[in-house]
Amino acid sequence: MRIDILTLFPDALGDVLSESILGRAQERGFIHIEAHQIRDYTSNKQNQVDDYPYGGGRGAIMQADPLYRCWESVCDEAAGPVHTIYLSPCGHTFTQRDAIRLSKKENIIFVCGHYEGIDQRFIDECVDEEISLGDFVLTGGELPAMMITDAVSRLVPGVLGDEVCFTDESHWDGLLEYPQYSRPEVWHGLAVPEGLLSGNHQNVDRWRKKQSILRTMYRRPDMFKKL
Ligand code: SAM
Repeated sequence: MRIDILTLFPDALGDVLSESILGRAQERGFIHIEAHQIRDYTSNKQNQVDDYPYGGGRGAIMQADPLYRCWESVCDEAAGPVHTIYLSPCGHTFTQRDAIRLSKKENIIFVCGHYEGIDQRFIDECVDEEISLGDFVLTGGELPAMMITDAVSRLVPGVLGDEVCFTDESHWDGLLEYPQYSRPEVWHGLAVPEGLLSGNHQNVDRWRKKQSILRTMYRRPDMFKKL
């Protein structure tokens, strides 16, 4: 899978996407993640990428043309079909179900807005879907792009090595994960629950399933209702 991130602040993506699991996945060729500076695609001397909003009002709007040129250049490089996502508080809220769906795409382009957002005509012409990270407003689309890239990439076959790593986790089958413990067996006077110490896999599975159901019921009644 190839993920391209169009942004005015490529440095803001930092090392997050090239360290640890995602870094190794890129080295081993399972995913390729690249950031593109939208400002490199302006056609004016000042490299201006934003302008005032028609109709008046505060702030600046990212213009359609530099975005379009950047997007077009990335599309030209892509080997297969491209799915373009604009990160926006006006989009639908991202869930694990979206991560699973997107992990099957060959090429994803994330468009990061900034200032007051981007010209609607670029969205109308080039964007396949708008995704929000939640009902709040951030200064830019870079954090949502990184978070969604992380959630999607770890589901790409080969990245985590074993599928059980994510099919056993919160949100995969509508439940939250059970509590987890590691050594020592007693810490600050708190013991690891008996149910995990029997060494009997069936008992452990039963204990975990029960904890998973109870946790979902108390913490997320909205999810529990949908089971
Ligand atoms: N004026 C816009 C509005 O009211 O909907 C908000 C613009 S916001 C300050 C700048 C950029 O941050 C957006 O274009 C978008 O790319 C990103 N952004 C902000 N909040 C977001 C969220 N909840 N989910 C995804 N992207 C977000």
